[in-house]
Parts: sequence; structure tokens; C-alpha cells
Amino acid sequence: MKRLVVVLLAAGGLAWWWRSRSSGNADTWSTPTGSEPTPYEPPKLGGDVDPELLAILACPLDKQPVTRQGNYLVCGECQRHYPIRDGIPVMLIDEALTPEQAAAAPI
Ligand SMILES: [Zn+2]
Repeated sequence: MKRLVVVLLAAGGLAWWWRSRSSGNADTWSTPTGSEPTPYEPPKLGGDVDPELLAILACPLDKQPVTRQGNYLVCGECQRHYPIRDGIPVMLIDEALTPEQAAAAPI
């Protein structure tokens, strides 16, 4: 089961890489003539998460279990909100909402 978590972390890193690549240097990507450029669609918040997966996930900061609240996984200890994007929990501290941010943003 540990391998699954590693894969998820890798997926989160990949999403970050993709986002940082697609923002900014859009002009360096030449589109072939005659074809429409594919608009970039950011992953949607939410989606179904496997309950088995949910059971083994933990907050990367304090290793406490997380519970689902709307489109987020919320740590029982630090109350950080980890977003679920297209059914994939993004367990990255940088991507998480702090309790203050979560209170300001509707879930
Ligand atoms: Zn936590």
C-alpha cells in the first residue's frame, strides 16, 4: 500500500510540473498549421475517491488521518484542506488550504 501513496505523490508532482510548464511559455509551443490548439483544461475539483485509498491517506505534515469534506480531504490535526482533483487527492502541503484559507473559501 505504501507504493500507492508514492505513486500519488508522483502524480501530484507531475500535475505541478504540467501546470508550471503550461503557464507562461505558451508562445514557445508552435501549433501545427491547420489544426486548432487544444485548450488547456485544469483538473476539476472533486471526483470519487476510493474509500480504501482514503483510509490509508494521511496528512504529509503530521501523519494524521484525513477525512473527506466536500472536495477536500481535511487533516484532523492541523485542519489543512487537501484538494481532490479529478478523483485524485493532492496530498501536497503547498497545494493544501490552511484553515484560514478554507474558512474564507466556500467548499
Ligand atoms: Zn495535518
